[in-house]
Amino acid sequence: MMAAVLEKAEHLVIREIDIKEYLSPHDVRIKITNVGICGSDMHYFKHGKIGPFIVKEPMVLGHEGSGIITETGSEVKTLKVGDCVCMEPGIPDNNSVASKRGIYNLDPDVKFWATPPVHGILRTSVIHPAEYTYKLPEAVSLEEGALVEPLAIGVHAATKACIKPGDIALVIGAGTIGIVTAFSALAGGCSNVIISDIRSEKLDIFKSNREIITINSSKENLHELVMDLSGGWGADIVFETSGNKKITETILDDICPSGKLVYIGMPADPVYFDIVKAQSREISIITIFRYAHVFPKAIALIGSGKIDVNRLITSRFAFKDCAEAFTNQLNPKAQSIKTMIQLTE
Ligand SMILES: [Zn+2]
Repeated sequence: MMAAVLEKAEHLVIREIDIKEYLSPHDVRIKITNVGICGSDMHYFKHGKIGPFIVKEPMVLGHEGSGIITETGSEVKTLKVGDCVCMEPGIPDNNSVASKRGIYNLDPDVKFWATPPVHGILRTSVIHPAEYTYKLPEAVSLEEGALVEPLAIGVHAATKACIKPGDIALVIGAGTIGIVTAFSALAGGCSNVIISDIRSEKLDIFKSNREIITINSSKENLHELVMDLSGGWGADIVFETSGNKKITETILDDICPSGKLVYIGMPADPVYFDIVKAQSREISIITIFRYAHVFPKAIALIGSGKIDVNRLITSRFAFKDCAEAFTNQLNPKAQSIKTMIQLTE
């Protein structure tokens, strides 16, 4: 099949590749139609590795995708040929302790697309377990389907934060994950969401949302804004999505007593954290790694119109122009958020 193959750092080619896949009774074959480029794809493209995950053999990139079912295994009852679907990119071992405890995202043996040595889905077709393949309702387009994966992270974060109606949330960072977290926090019941970034262009996406207050924290005082809006008390929940390690030095000042700090962004190095300051106000620390059990809810939030993910897409490329799409993102425009690859016309 044809695929976008990362041969080595900064060298991506569209070429024929032979991937050994077998359609087992519980699998489906999917013709891929849309794939969003993720920060992790860009990281592999640029550096050929992420931490301990090193691209040693040519690898197909892409894990945020949607497509159309072309074949079903003999035991598949929930999906049929022609169904439009999106897919969870991680396949856990269903017999692992983590899976049995319901936390399959934490299975150490999970096989996750486009994480070496597992190939991703920037290719014409893939075989995937029906169990991790979700039918899109009529109201959700295939392009929106490819955005369910990043949205799932926001929905998982909002779920783990146990938002209560009327909570005030602060989201640090307005990249893809910050944006979907702000949308999810609002959908989860927050009265207001403040979102900060140091690039004003990123914040323009929220122009039409009255309940989302944007602030360029390099120019304005974020702490003052949080205190003004919360009557001097602080935000109920802070979602950290920037991965900036300096943020932890000041972040606790923005959270109210008994509030919550949710870590989604991953700092590249260990960070300083004032435990006593957190203890003296009983702040709960919550961490997020990917997601579990939230794809159906993320799809429903798009389908009902509660969350509009189309706004995330800032550029589109045809499959044959994948290399250009990746090269462009090496020096992205300030307002650039999500690049979408279209595999069919
Ligand atoms: Zn992703």
